[in-house]
Amino acid sequence: MSDKRYLALNVAGMATSDGAGVALTRMVGTQQLDMVDPFLMLDRMDNDDPDTYMAGFPNHPHQGFETVTVMLEGQMRHQDSVGNDGLLAPGDIQWMTAGRGIIHSEMPEMISGKLKGFQLWVNLPAALKMIPPTYQDIPSAEVPIKDTGGATVRVLAGTYDGATGPAKAQTPIRILDARLEAETAWTITPVDGHNVFCCVYEGAITAVDDQGAERAVTAPAVAVFSGDGPIEITAGADGAEILYCEGHPINEPVARYGPFVMNTRKEIEQAVRDYNDGTLAT
Ligand code: MN
Repeated sequence: MSDKRYLALNVAGMATSDGAGVALTRMVGTQQLDMVDPFLMLDRMDNDDPDTYMAGFPNHPHQGFETVTVMLEGQMRHQDSVGNDGLLAPGDIQWMTAGRGIIHSEMPEMISGKLKGFQLWVNLPAALKMIPPTYQDIPSAEVPIKDTGGATVRVLAGTYDGATGPAKAQTPIRILDARLEAETAWTITPVDGHNVFCCVYEGAITAVDDQGAERAVTAPAVAVFSGDGPIEITAGADGAEILYCEGHPINEPVARYGPFVMNTRKEIEQAVRDYNDGTLAT
């Protein structure tokens, strides 16, 4: 047994579209990589043609989990059934806990024609699936940045190097947005038992697999790490930008159907009935 976590999977993601026709790459939540408990899905948007995203995500429901939007370029305007509205600018984060039900819209607004960012879905345990919906809009200025030896790390949620991210999750989570200069080695030690993946969204990294061999992970791709102990990665010749996602696995049955994620089929059927009856988000 190695005393370090090793690269267990390197997955390229799948081109698809969602909402009213937003082109995106599904990095987690595919046949190749169903989920990394508690992370149900990661969608990556990286569009420079407004025709591929301006239709946005008009009114739609969610129930049973949390949606996390990380904007890098462009803006996203949101409105929901609880009466919240806001505009996510580059660098901002929205952490929305759908809980028992919410209906919202997420509509891109152009800056220089670009839309770049992520939406991450974090599951909730059965005991928290029906809590009241809440959301946190977090401006980029509130996100701590740790800058050491070629690594610039934005701490979105959880703690890193003495800094605590502003996003409050319902379950133990750490989410970092890290930029590594060329050939920079970066080490991070996850909590024992937590699951970890990194979405490499610019450049490339190398990491060691279970045989001790150096493997390259080239953007856009998801690297899933297994084992225990620290993760050691090294940026490639052009550097790397990665979204690091670490969380405590919920280890419960997952029943999902579109925007609803519950524990059983029966609960999903109830969510669909409630949505059709207009009672989901009341
Ligand atoms: Mn949504």
